Amino acid sequence: MSTEYGYGESDSWFARAERVIPGGIYGHQSPGLLTRGEYPSFTHSAEGCHLRDIDGNRYIDFLCGYGPIVLGYNHPVVEKAVERQRKLGDTMTLPSVRSVELAEQLVGMTPSADWAMFAKNGSDVCTWALAIARKATGRDLVVMAEHAYHGVHGWCNGITAGFPDSDRTTIRPVNWNDSAELEAVFDGQGENIAAVILTPFRHEAFEDSVMPADGYLERARALCTQHGALLISDDVRTGFRLDMGGSMQKWGVTPDLLCYSKALANGHPLSALLGTEALREAARQVFVTGTFFLGAVSIAASLATLTEIGATGAIDHMHAMGLRLCEGLAERADTAGLEIRLSGPPSLPYMRFAEDGDGFNRNRVFCGAAARRGVLFHPHHNWFLMAAHQKEDIDEALTVADEAFAAVKDAF
Ligand code: PMP
Repeated sequence: MSTEYGYGESDSWFARAERVIPGGIYGHQSPGLLTRGEYPSFTHSAEGCHLRDIDGNRYIDFLCGYGPIVLGYNHPVVEKAVERQRKLGDTMTLPSVRSVELAEQLVGMTPSADWAMFAKNGSDVCTWALAIARKATGRDLVVMAEHAYHGVHGWCNGITAGFPDSDRTTIRPVNWNDSAELEAVFDGQGENIAAVILTPFRHEAFEDSVMPADGYLERARALCTQHGALLISDDVRTGFRLDMGGSMQKWGVTPDLLCYSKALANGHPLSALLGTEALREAARQVFVTGTFFLGAVSIAASLATLTEIGATGAIDHMHAMGLRLCEGLAERADTAGLEIRLSGPPSLPYMRFAEDGDGFNRNRVFCGAAARRGVLFHPHHNWFLMAAHQKEDIDEALTVADEAFAAVKDAF
């Protein structure tokens, strides 16, 4: 049995944080969503696929900063580009030419994208995409999958505290994968629909991931085209782990607007909205700006990240490592006499215990036991692979998983 980690420093920093930061830590990094005492709360540093917490414990990280770390922490090629740009300047009065280069690179690698614009967060570009769709079509209604996460803005934030209901009056939720419902909505209100916004597959926290049913994305594409509405792909979470041309390309579907963030700059803050020629004028007219949107360091990081992902076959590697992890987990759970459910693509896997039903009790014990032995998984959010994960890391994680499955057997 490996030695179990302690979290004394994390706990005392959390107590300090609670006094000066509402909730101590907010959002999905909040340990409030995990079991207090089962997880570290604060990171000290990170390198490759390893993260060190404030107590000095070392982990193989399968959360990748919740997605952004696609190559590895502190990646030498990316950080070299970052240092070079940092010396020249980051946020400056005029944009740097790096933004032109990155727009050119994205347009070159993305079918149908004729332009790109930059912001900082996924929420920024998803909301911006809706504004451009509304301006271009002269319509207000936007169709989205029920409970889908497109960011923190009022039109889509699943936790409605503090947002008026009126933020959602122009949003029509539909059930994911239900082509008949989508057809019915277009039949009834087709002339009012500006856009349909979808993620390439369903990956909500607290739910099994669901791949698109045969023909679902294609049908959404066809209905949008037929009714003069726009298809928006929210590729914020999935981008650059499935297909370099945009994740919907995996299903042969080309959206009108494409939202990227997370993996776009290997952890440096950046998002991008890409669109077609037909939407160029609307994109020009919709006024969106942000003080830090054109910061050159993140943009330089993105140029290096995208080039490196493409040149090293990182997407195939993440798929192969994810498959090794998922197959290993399935085999080991079976040996332990536990039934697990794995869903989503191998590079963004989601794991559940069948006996947990709709809950997460076994998964919390499993992930807590794995954390205390040096592997970071999450009980109700999808995990992420990064290019820095090597076979040895996967095999080490599987050895830890054996002990974590044993902890589940002991607890239930
Ligand atoms: N869309 C999707 C699919 C996401 O996963 C997220 C972030 N988890 C967002 C939008 C919002 O991105 P951000 O947190 O950068 O605002």
